[in-house]
Amino acid sequence: MSDHKVYYNYIGGEWVPARSGKTYENRNPADTRDVIGIFPDSGAEDIADAVAAAKEAYNAWRLVPAPKRGELLYRASQILQERKEQYANDMTREMGKVLAETRGDVQEAIDMGYFMAGEGRRLYGVTTPSELPNKFQMSVRQPLGVCGLITPWNFPMAIPSWKIFPALICGNTVVIKPAEDTPLSTYNFVQALVDAGLPKGVVNIVSGHGPTAGEPLVQHPDVKVISFTGSTEVGRHVSTLCAQQGKHVSLEMGGKNPMIIMDDADLDLVLAGAVWGAFGTTGQRCTATSRIIAHRAIVDELTSRIQAEAKTIQVGNGLVDGMQMGPSINQGQLSVVEKYVKIGREEGAELVLGGERLTDGDLGHGFFHQPTIFGNVKRNMRIAQEEIFGPVVSIIPVDSLEEAIDVANDVPYGLSSSIYTRNVNNAFIAMRDLYTGIVYVNAPTIGAEIHLPFGGTKGTGNGKREGGTQVLDTYSEWKSLYVDY
Ligand code: NAD
Repeated sequence: MSDHKVYYNYIGGEWVPARSGKTYENRNPADTRDVIGIFPDSGAEDIADAVAAAKEAYNAWRLVPAPKRGELLYRASQILQERKEQYANDMTREMGKVLAETRGDVQEAIDMGYFMAGEGRRLYGVTTPSELPNKFQMSVRQPLGVCGLITPWNFPMAIPSWKIFPALICGNTVVIKPAEDTPLSTYNFVQALVDAGLPKGVVNIVSGHGPTAGEPLVQHPDVKVISFTGSTEVGRHVSTLCAQQGKHVSLEMGGKNPMIIMDDADLDLVLAGAVWGAFGTTGQRCTATSRIIAHRAIVDELTSRIQAEAKTIQVGNGLVDGMQMGPSINQGQLSVVEKYVKIGREEGAELVLGGERLTDGDLGHGFFHQPTIFGNVKRNMRIAQEEIFGPVVSIIPVDSLEEAIDVANDVPYGLSSSIYTRNVNNAFIAMRDLYTGIVYVNAPTIGAEIHLPFGGTKGTGNGKREGGTQVLDTYSEWKSLYVDY
């Protein structure tokens, strides 16, 4: 018998083990000797139980007035605020990013809760004048029913909150399948909702693996909406399954985010943004800066300054004071990083910094890799085209703004982009012509606030957005009402 903490699924207001009795162990990626807990390895029968509970709860929940639903979200956010430090610690242990970042992750969930609680008082409809006399017409938002939510490991509380809070405020009930590497943070989030007075069955959490727990959720006929965040490959598969059933689906997928540096940019500003954008969260952000597209007039100076700055990054266990970059999430992700470093070398890019796994002392118990910079990268190299999701950045020299934007747009993804320039015309041209869901000026590609729509173009998404009031369109549909009098 293991003496590690055992977690259960939360279905219909009860904590229950997987019906098969199967479990899996979750370990700290910074030190794999540290077991976080034992989680249910759920299957289709657990998903079926959770969907049935959510379906049963739906009829009562949809009739709770939206401002009252908002009060639950508000209370949950207050509880998250009280537990922020504990939940951030848990998240650093299970996911590896440093404490300053996991505090930010919990804070994003808190912000989303307050934001959506307010939306409960503003679920506005529309009244429209009729062409006919004595006729009143209006449109209102309606919930859809049971929502299936599938989330990745890199923002293990913020991303669930971006889905659960808007789904609930619209009057839906949910079943969430968190990423297998980070169930604890989602459990903590659901616990805050439970302690805030969540009615039974309104939120259900089922942990397990993608093909065995995620896919049955996508395929369940009583699930009316799927909201998926993860890789483009899995997202496309999920999308195909949803299309077969005519199911609503929101997809947030990969990125290959460019930062353009013009020759008139403030290089001190660029330096901080580039290092944070590329190596924050160990490069494991969908919005991570993975391409620095720099004007040839300043590229040499920029490369040597970024190299000097990135060299000083303290890599280690994120719970230890002073650490700035944690590990990759697991061995698989670390191997992907190592594979792309090899590819970059073979493609003839210049390795400016890093390139090796870190194994000294305690680091050898985790999945640590050096911050890595490739210089003189050509736009069509694989390291400049494919998502790596690790601490690797490519510097690509260009000769003009036009070329920079062309290179920036020439990838299969379109999540986030940025430009550093002191020229207001350049800034506006970039805002107009960069084909991404988010464009920053004089800031890195990361740091989006959830009060604005969040999502991407091309291989990153399917036109839906998380955040902003636009997210409500994923979790509701419009009903038009005509009254003759
Ligand atoms: P992933 O696609 O491997 O897994 C995401 C989720 O899908 C997990 O919960 C997983 O269990 C589940 N899943 C896997 N196979 C499935 C299947 N056959 N059916 C149903 N569900 C299945 O992605 P990941 O490794 O967890 O996350 C990293 C990826 O997520 C990166 O590509 C990153 O860019 C992307 N991401 C995108 C955004 C965004 O908003 N655009 C945000 C964060 C992460």
